[in-house]
Amino acid sequence: MKTTTFCRGCWEQLRMPIAIRGPISVPYRAFGIQRSQMHPNLCTMGETKFKQVMKQKQIEIDTAVLFADLRGYTRLSQTLDPSRMNELLHGFYDRCSNAVWKYDGIINKFIGDAVLAIFNFPLMRADHVLNAVRTAVELQRQCAGLKEEAGLDAEQDVGIGIGVHAGISRMGEVGNAFKDFTAIGPVVNLASRLQTAAQAGEILITPEVHDKVKDHWPDLPSRSLVLKGIEGTVTGYVIGKEVYAQE
Ligand SMILES: [Zn+2]
Repeated sequence: MKTTTFCRGCWEQLRMPIAIRGPISVPYRAFGIQRSQMHPNLCTMGETKFKQVMKQKQIEIDTAVLFADLRGYTRLSQTLDPSRMNELLHGFYDRCSNAVWKYDGIINKFIGDAVLAIFNFPLMRADHVLNAVRTAVELQRQCAGLKEEAGLDAEQDVGIGIGVHAGISRMGEVGNAFKDFTAIGPVVNLASRLQTAAQAGEILITPEVHDKVKDHWPDLPSRSLVLKGIEGTVTGYVIGKEVYAQE
């Protein structure tokens, strides 16, 4: 007999038990409510409800946004066996999902060898910024064995670069012909640009994020960054291997 799982978001916000797994979930599925792809313990109703709201107005949410990318993947794919590459990507996707879900974020999307994760929606957490950085640290540590697991040797340069930024984002559906449910706005853009500036094995966080986590990670070094499409310079605080490896 399978056990029943209820949507955590609907329960936390509405005290509504929506079954997403197990025998009770069948009637819900008949009405088009099922398990969300973005989080195994959430249902699709949040997304559906949101689509309705978005027709009226734009919803702004205090979020933390994490971008992570598998460095070296494109270059390696030109020389390596496709099944190896597949294994590498699978390992990366699995580790991303596990780390993000552990800290109550959602995987908004995988884009090739990169991931976009959002925190504080729809599971709202007072410490969502800290959660996002904890996710980044966890992901870096989990990915340490990725190369060996995919059968690559030591000189093959593979690693994860991560950027985390926090602030108000707009969440909802974009587009008419092709609909995309995602977060948009400057916070997302900066997190994305920051990630491209991170070296393999590095986590770069903005001053906004640093402010919320500096008690946990004191004395972080910083770099002044010039980022494409962003005016002026951005201070990026660096959480490197020497910091997360010893936790
Ligand atoms: Zn739900």
